[in-house]
Amino acid sequence: MNFTETAEQLALRAAVAELGRRYGFDYYTRQAREGGRLTELWREAAKLGFIGANLPEEYGGGGAGLYELAIVLEELAAAGCGLLMMVVSPAICGTILSRYGTADQKQHWLPKLASGSAIMAFGITEPDAGSNSHRLTTVAARDGDTWVLTGRKVFISGVDEAEAVLIVGRTADAKTGNLRPALFVVPTDAPGFSYQPLEMDIVMPEKQYLLFLDDVRLPATALVGEESAAIQQLFAGLNPERIMASAMALGSARYALEKAVSYAKERTVWSAPIGAHQGLAHPLAQVKVEIEMARLMMQKAATLQDAGDDMAAGEAANMAKYAAAEAGVRAVDQAIQTLGGSSMTREVGLAAMLANVRTTRIAPVSREMILNFVAQYSLGLPKSY
Ligand SMILES: Cc1cc2nc3c(=O)[nH]c(=O)nc-3n(C[C@H](O)[C@H](O)[C@H](O)COP(=O)(O)OP(=O)(O)OC[C@H]3O[C@@H](n4cnc5c(N)ncnc54)[C@H](O)[C@@H]3O)c2cc1C
Repeated sequence: MNFTETAEQLALRAAVAELGRRYGFDYYTRQAREGGRLTELWREAAKLGFIGANLPEEYGGGGAGLYELAIVLEELAAAGCGLLMMVVSPAICGTILSRYGTADQKQHWLPKLASGSAIMAFGITEPDAGSNSHRLTTVAARDGDTWVLTGRKVFISGVDEAEAVLIVGRTADAKTGNLRPALFVVPTDAPGFSYQPLEMDIVMPEKQYLLFLDDVRLPATALVGEESAAIQQLFAGLNPERIMASAMALGSARYALEKAVSYAKERTVWSAPIGAHQGLAHPLAQVKVEIEMARLMMQKAATLQDAGDDMAAGEAANMAKYAAAEAGVRAVDQAIQTLGGSSMTREVGLAAMLANVRTTRIAPVSREMILNFVAQYSLGLPKSY
């Protein structure tokens, strides 16, 4: 066990931090408030090889692991400009396709995802299913050598920026007729596929969409890998999703803590800077402890994932995502307290950041569903649902 990052990892961290500083929180919030996107940052990060750091070298990726991809997202978020679509495109979709895609799917999609020239969104959530993926009603019916997809998805991020969406649907088992999951790559310009933006009350450049799949006819090649392997495919995407959501939350937590600490060192309303009062210093110190603990769990999860131990990585990734969301919310909330009234100004932007980081308690998987996982799988407690 080595808690020291390699020279390459440290160099990556420094290079991404430098890029992040050039864009920063002002760029992020300006784009969000003006209805813009983070395209310039995405392109520059892609050009530097950061977006596809985890994807195989033979497809133009960096050939590193999820650990390195998480470094990229953590450092960008710590600079105030995290790229949400990194959670989805290279991490979830890229991992699933590199592990389970057919040779053609890999050849077609991985070079584009690795170079960042295309983004792939991910759609699992449905209005009536929510956290219960057994209730998914997006169904793919076989029609000759094509698939016909019908269903609805909700809260799907970045569809307007994406060339395709990796859709989790269900197909009927040929023998039993029972529905079982299946993953399809659906181009966003496919006939019958449409989407509508949701009016979200969060300051985030990536928008969320309601998707309508009305008899979307897809070639047989749209089905990812083997029809019978969809559960493994889905699971292959979950650890990267949780590790990257942790990286985003922890980066935001670091950003907020740094802002709070530098303010607390300067702002003086009595005889000493406000950071000298334990009423402020201790909660900030607690936040630092919580960030470091969550970060360690995220790094453990990423290390296990890169070592191919998916089961152990699953437990660690869930715990990391839980801890990172809690640390993120606490960090931003305490930063708000530290900056007092100015925290509520647009210029400072912490109020808007609170809603963003609060989202990580709900998405991509809620705090309660993680606690259910830990209760059942780590503790062996009975299931209530
Ligand atoms: C900003 C944002 C971006 C998103 N991007 C995407 C995306 O790109 N792709 C995508 O597919 N989805 C996306 N989502 C959806 C997100 O993954 C879901 O919101 C999340 O999984 C929770 O589902 P739900 O909102 O339907 O809540 P519900 O499942 O309805 O849950 C509501 C509440 O009930 C609790 N609950 C439910 N079941 C249990 C139980 N058994 N025990 C205890 N408590 C329970 C939940 O924890 C939660 O607190 C996004 C959401 C947001 C807010």
